[in-house]
Amino acid sequence: MKKIFLVVICAFIFFLGGSSCYSYPKTEINASRRKKENTYNYAAINDDIDNEVFELFVKLHKNYKKNNNEVVFSYEKFTDPFALSFLFDFWVYSGDNIVRKIKRTYNYAASDGKSIILNDIILIDVYWPLLQNEMKKRGININTNDLKFFKYIVNKDEIVFYYPLDYEANYLTVTLANNGVTYQDTADTEVNGERRAALTFDDGPSSATKDLVDLLNKYQIKATFFLLGERVKYYPDEVGYIYQSGHEIGNHSYSHPDFSKITLSEAEKEIADTQEAVYKLISSYPKLFRFPYGNYNISALNMIDLPVVLWDCDSEDWRYRNSQIVYNNVLSSLSAQTVILFHDFAGYHKTAIEAVINYLDSQGYRFVTVSEMFAFHSEENVVFGKIYY
Ligand code: ZN
Repeated sequence: MKKIFLVVICAFIFFLGGSSCYSYPKTEINASRRKKENTYNYAAINDDIDNEVFELFVKLHKNYKKNNNEVVFSYEKFTDPFALSFLFDFWVYSGDNIVRKIKRTYNYAASDGKSIILNDIILIDVYWPLLQNEMKKRGININTNDLKFFKYIVNKDEIVFYYPLDYEANYLTVTLANNGVTYQDTADTEVNGERRAALTFDDGPSSATKDLVDLLNKYQIKATFFLLGERVKYYPDEVGYIYQSGHEIGNHSYSHPDFSKITLSEAEKEIADTQEAVYKLISSYPKLFRFPYGNYNISALNMIDLPVVLWDCDSEDWRYRNSQIVYNNVLSSLSAQTVILFHDFAGYHKTAIEAVINYLDSQGYRFVTVSEMFAFHSEENVVFGKIYY
């Protein structure tokens, strides 16, 4: 891959209490390389990128304006007979510290300018086993849910993958042979008004976890498990089973305290210990956090460097033995983009969960993980100090 040029476009400084005024220079993307047979228009591609980069920048500005932050970005352009690609790097500084690094990639076919994407099918069938293997060599585990977090630059022979290890986004780079790509199809883009449900299971792992995972796997549903750090050592196989089945793992604290009643340093320890306990078992860190009981205080919320997710639909499955009541609880508070709270415990409501799955399916809901629901794989969508539900 030949680096054509690298340029730091601009640095923006936002002052506390200062004006929200900022400027955005249009990127001048070099479009000098044109093949004679090309009928597509590089200028149009440049405009598309300009718009996306502008939107990304506006989001970053909004997310970080409360701090005295500086946002810098640069980009590299790559060309070869197969593709035209752009790699953008954004850095968010707080003083001298980089608090976020964000990569964004764009790939276009040299033949017709179509957007090159790796869809879920090719990612899972072709690249996942290879990526998993390469990551393992670096001591990192990935499951199919993690695939969404990869960015990539494509050329004729190779694909360079970038994987954010954490929310400061220290990236690992893996280069694989180009074993095929797919192209953006308008039918792939998200249909407006599509209904989606994220099933979430709190307080596990438990003796019921494997059964629960089998139930989800039977319906080919990927769900999100918010685990308790102090429980994972008792159910190590269950944690591995959740993860290897492609479900998402979140942090639900170590000992399930009420965060509105503990100190900030206790809160910090609850979260950090759980991150480590899970990592020790599966070599992958939880990417989300959920407060026990949904209780929090603002300082704890602002301290957490993971996206914080609660729920909008409560099954109250821990409260009732009667599955019909649990089922009715869910149906009475569903929304079009719904995060449903269940629990992973010995008395879990298999019948109610299965009935809910069938009902949602009949209503045209698509099942997603929490990260998919809020598009957390695009890091600029993660707003710290915000509660997602
Ligand atoms: Zn809980």
